[in-house]
Amino acid sequence: MARRRVIEPAADTGDEPPPPEPMVVGVAKALSPLARRILAPNPSVFTGPGTNTYLVGIDEIVVIDPGPADDSHLDAIVGCGGDRIRWIAVTHTHPDHSPGVAGLKERTGAEVLAFTAKDGLKPDRRIGDGHTIEATEFRLSAIHTPGHASNHLCFLLEEERMLFSGDHIMDGSTVVIRPPDGDMAAYLDSLARLRTMRLRSIAPGHGRLIQQPAEVIDWYIAHRHERERQVLDVLREQGSAKIDQLVPIVYADVDEERQQIARHSMHAHLLKLAAEGKVTGRTLTGKWSIV
Ligand SMILES: [Zn+2]
Repeated sequence: MARRRVIEPAADTGDEPPPPEPMVVGVAKALSPLARRILAPNPSVFTGPGTNTYLVGIDEIVVIDPGPADDSHLDAIVGCGGDRIRWIAVTHTHPDHSPGVAGLKERTGAEVLAFTAKDGLKPDRRIGDGHTIEATEFRLSAIHTPGHASNHLCFLLEEERMLFSGDHIMDGSTVVIRPPDGDMAAYLDSLARLRTMRLRSIAPGHGRLIQQPAEVIDWYIAHRHERERQVLDVLREQGSAKIDQLVPIVYADVDEERQQIARHSMHAHLLKLAAEGKVTGRTLTGKWSIV
């Protein structure tokens, strides 16, 4: 029954929720009284529909993640926030999140805030866990969430309990953890910490607003534990194996292109298990063995 419902067109059943509104590039979408989202024109297998840039505030605005260095996107951000853009906050320094900072700084003169200077980004101010941006209408607090990237910050809009999660949590997919900068143990610790916070919604770096934060974080944690268990089971069967041999078995449910990416997350799982003394091995291409 449940399966039929999913495949039936909504018009036939009458009680289906309407299909989600399409995400449109370059057009500001209001998510709440204080938050707006502009989608960047960079869709891909890594970025889904593209990178989300968020504008928080009305009189004084923080831009979270200007995205790629794309003039049309930066113009759309300035068209929406104008000279009220006071700060540019960066979740992490990956190529789909931070290269737009320089162009937006040039256009607005806003202060650039990030965890570290890295990957070509030079923040005006380095901020860490607990740093709070105090604006006239809101407070936005930084939470250091290493895992996907060692310099990853999430931002909590306290008035609305909305978490801007960057690439720590995405809508509709899991996150690639790529050692050595990516770290699975740190990733799980960061998720557990977010789980203890009273969140109303999560505004991810990619995809739509997440309205059930606790359920999604629980699913993320359970999914990683399940993958870890699968990795251990397969390695136990084989005794020892290379990552390229393990991936098609453990990630049989994803297509080949994603399996290439999954090699890195598998590596991250194995490094965590090695630190716990359950397996031995070190590299992406070398042999891994059960202890
Ligand atoms: Zn991203």
